[in-house]
Amino acid sequence: MSGCRVGVIYGEEMLLYSFPQPHPFRKDRIERFYEKLPELEKEFPGQIIRVKPRMATLEEVLFYHEKEYVDFVKNMSMDGYGYLDYGDTPAFKGCYEASLYVVGSTLKLVDLVMKGEIDHGFNPMGGLHHARKGRAAGFCIFNDASIAIKYLLDKIGLNEVLYVDIDAHHGDGVFYDFYYDKRLKHVDFHQDGRTLYPGTGFAHERGGGEAAGTKLNIPLMPGAGVGEFMENWEKLVERFLNDVDPEFILLQAGADGLIGDPLTGLEYTEEVHYFVAKRLHKLAEEKCEGRIVAMGGGGYNRDNIVKAWSAVVRALATPP
Ligand SMILES: [Zn+2]
Ligand SMILES: [Zn+2]
Repeated sequence: MSGCRVGVIYGEEMLLYSFPQPHPFRKDRIERFYEKLPELEKEFPGQIIRVKPRMATLEEVLFYHEKEYVDFVKNMSMDGYGYLDYGDTPAFKGCYEASLYVVGSTLKLVDLVMKGEIDHGFNPMGGLHHARKGRAAGFCIFNDASIAIKYLLDKIGLNEVLYVDIDAHHGDGVFYDFYYDKRLKHVDFHQDGRTLYPGTGFAHERGGGEAAGTKLNIPLMPGAGVGEFMENWEKLVERFLNDVDPEFILLQAGADGLIGDPLTGLEYTEEVHYFVAKRLHKLAEEKCEGRIVAMGGGGYNRDNIVKAWSAVVRALATPP
């Protein structure tokens, strides 16, 4: 086999998760990436597999979320106005179904990878890492990453999952809802919480109880670029990875850390995304038969989104 087969979620259902103007999280983020896809398909002939989105079932959403919250979203989705949180995440008509497509599609990739029908997966709409068990937050309604983690650990019965989050914002939903779960190893690079939403993710927070030491927060100050990222990866992450033994790897590859993002102050280039996806791809091939799924996460500069996500797909398609 020359290259790896990467399943990429592709379908207009993924455009449904789109907040009303002038919200920065709209469907053109995904449309721009989809316009680029034929180029990637040409670069890696036969290796990019378009995977149709699917809706999650209610049962799947309840692997993680609370029933009262799910009902709340369903009702707000029918009305289509007001906010799901304190002002970042507006309801819109059909936001319930749109969210089910995000979750179902990430789970579909997880299943296809587990069955070996694809080698790796990428859901550009996935990685809604701020949503908590019982509430929406930061543009995130249902947390597909957390649901996939619960699915892998509790339903499939894996012993350990590695979640790496390089979105400019701290992955607080995943981080705090698994804070006491030692089965989830979590590495999170983000802009320092004193300078950016959600204001969390400090280096001293390492997991609680028997999970102490299983989480690694790496906050960077505004202006940090590829150099600072790499330095911290070498110094902190490589040592952390020595002690992990994942059976599945999830990457939240938010593009909002790239220089020029309108919401954040980090100054990465897509080199960071290529490096991380490649390194984790290698780890997955060494530790868990290549089982890795990446999710698009945030990103509000449309050109940066295309660059960062293309870099992730390239790194997964190229044998490490
Ligand atoms: Zn591979
Ligand atoms: Zn973000």
